[in-house]
Amino acid sequence: MSVQGSLDQQWARVRGRLKDEVGETAYRSWLKPLTVGTLDGGQLRILVPTRFMRDWIRTHYADRIRALFSGENPGVQSVEIVVASAAKPELIAAANDAPVAATAVAATRVPEPVTELVIEPTPTLTVVEDRTDEMSAPLDPRFTFENFVVGKPNELAFAAARRVADAQAVPFNPLFLYGGVGLGKTHLMHSIAWAIRKKDPSRRVIYLSAEKFMYQFIRALRFKDTMAFKEQFRSVDVLMIDDVQFISGKDSTQEEFFHTFNALVDQNRQVIISADKSPSDLEGMEERLRSRLGWGLVADIHPTTYELRLGILGQKADRIGAKVPPKVLEFLAHKITSNVRELEGALNRIVAHAELVGRAITLESAQDVLHDLLRASNRRVTIEEIQKKVAEHFNIRLADMSSARRARAVARPRQVAMYLAKQLTQRSLPEIGRKFGDRDHTTVMHAVRKVDELCGTDPAFAEDVELLRRMLEG
Ligand code: ADP
Ligand code: MG
Repeated sequence: MSVQGSLDQQWARVRGRLKDEVGETAYRSWLKPLTVGTLDGGQLRILVPTRFMRDWIRTHYADRIRALFSGENPGVQSVEIVVASAAKPELIAAANDAPVAATAVAATRVPEPVTELVIEPTPTLTVVEDRTDEMSAPLDPRFTFENFVVGKPNELAFAAARRVADAQAVPFNPLFLYGGVGLGKTHLMHSIAWAIRKKDPSRRVIYLSAEKFMYQFIRALRFKDTMAFKEQFRSVDVLMIDDVQFISGKDSTQEEFFHTFNALVDQNRQVIISADKSPSDLEGMEERLRSRLGWGLVADIHPTTYELRLGILGQKADRIGAKVPPKVLEFLAHKITSNVRELEGALNRIVAHAELVGRAITLESAQDVLHDLLRASNRRVTIEEIQKKVAEHFNIRLADMSSARRARAVARPRQVAMYLAKQLTQRSLPEIGRKFGDRDHTTVMHAVRKVDELCGTDPAFAEDVELLRRMLEG
């Protein structure tokens, strides 16, 4: 076995351990793109695609990587995280979980054939012909647990959904999922339905939007067929009603829903409800129904975090086989914060555009394509925001933007912040100087020149500055 071969196997094990430790989302965002380089005199090189990632890995994961790696291989004494620009075009997609994939060291990597581009239609339901109950709405085949990226904001809802899908007996009734638009409620409900059907096709699972429930009930009323309607619902094993806020204010439907709900719960059948608000906040809903809905487990989905958005984008890009540079994914995760549907829409647009014009995706093209979307979030940048963003980006304390420390590790980011302040705000040099711990305007001038000069000689540095500029500017 070659030395590299065994290093790769060790790395595969280390990655597995890291994945368990940090969780799927952080793993996908930060650790999956890493590859193992060479081991030289006790120093192991780990390759990352961007400087931004390098800095992040250094501060957050390098120690752990070293500890785990020395456990696998006592010859590893230190770990150095280095940017391998050749690793970049292959993207996150190239570093999959199979241990062999990790053997692809940047320099020797063979270009992969360009994967055929599949552009998914904007989310519409695909009709799946199977045991789908007549009453039930079709399930989207993409909405599975496997395709759901878990992070802090949705981990409770995900765990609850998994539990309901896996449990032999009803674990809590009802499961009430709530959260804002486009945060994954419907995705989780469909996932539960798929998982249950897969495990036990004989169980009757009905998934319905509250609107459809209402519509069917009204139709049954019209055809004086409410008995059959009731019977149908009351004989299911699992009933899911999505977006239940839509039946608020509709008294007769509420009444029927309440009875159906009670009947099912009494028979120990699983009921799963989603809404945009918690049970107690549902307006126009009868008090007894509201309180009943809160009896089981109430799990909320919080707005996404940057990490989760990055994880979702990575997964989505992987799935459609699109080559999207990590910088572009980072950019999108920073800029599109409203909800996951918009995030997916933005990615789809970028990918579709690149395919149409036959050019690779870049930060510039992404920004052009999303011009209208991004303009919405456009506003005046302040020096404080610049300082904050730059400090975060380089992992230094915000206080060091105005401190007297001259160490390169803080002086350089400070210069970048001054440079961006000059570029992005209307402030004069003396004004900028004052905001950076009362520095002289000549210091700011020097910083601007220095950053300009570095941008000319160091492409990676230039890219960092550009990324920051775009992030701040929108
Ligand atoms: P909601 O029902 O809460 O309005 P959806 O379940 O329809 O939201 O989600 C909107 C889109 O975002 C769907 O395409 C869904 O697949 C996707 N989505 C939401 N959350 C996640 C996640 N955590 N991982 C992967 N995709 C997600
Ligand atoms: Mg929904």
